[in-house]
Amino acid sequence: MTQPLGKIITLEDKLDGHRLEEWLVALITAGYDRVTAAQCLPFIEAQEFAPVAVQAEVNAGRWIVRCPTCSGAQPAYRTRHAFWCVSCLQSRFGGRWTQVIWPEVNDVTRIERILMQRPAPTMRNWTNESIADLLRENAEHGDSDGGVTA
Ligand SMILES: [Zn+2]
Repeated sequence: MTQPLGKIITLEDKLDGHRLEEWLVALITAGYDRVTAAQCLPFIEAQEFAPVAVQAEVNAGRWIVRCPTCSGAQPAYRTRHAFWCVSCLQSRFGGRWTQVIWPEVNDVTRIERILMQRPAPTMRNWTNESIADLLRENAEHGDSDGGVTA
């Protein structure tokens, strides 16, 4: 997978004009079969949320969501803070979606600006570190602060 320069990847970068629901069904079809995908679609379309939330994180230059149930992870959707796992089919939650918690918009911008100073995409990671921690890590590796202050 090629990493476009200058940005942290989100699900929006992968949808290629498709709706989120279509993208999920395509992934389910790839992993299971058309029948299973068709069975999942009503739950996906229902847009009901389970009382559970997970935090988006940056992993190797991509915003991702890790499934709270299985080992699955998918790109995170910047503009729709919702996650539907195509690995476990949200079965633990009766097919309902998981809410995704993103940092405040200002912090997303600061996190991305700091991480983009790191030359290797594999070094662009964030789970819950403070802005000060990210800046310290950049300084330790000789990377710029990207004009961000703590
Ligand atoms: Zn899962």
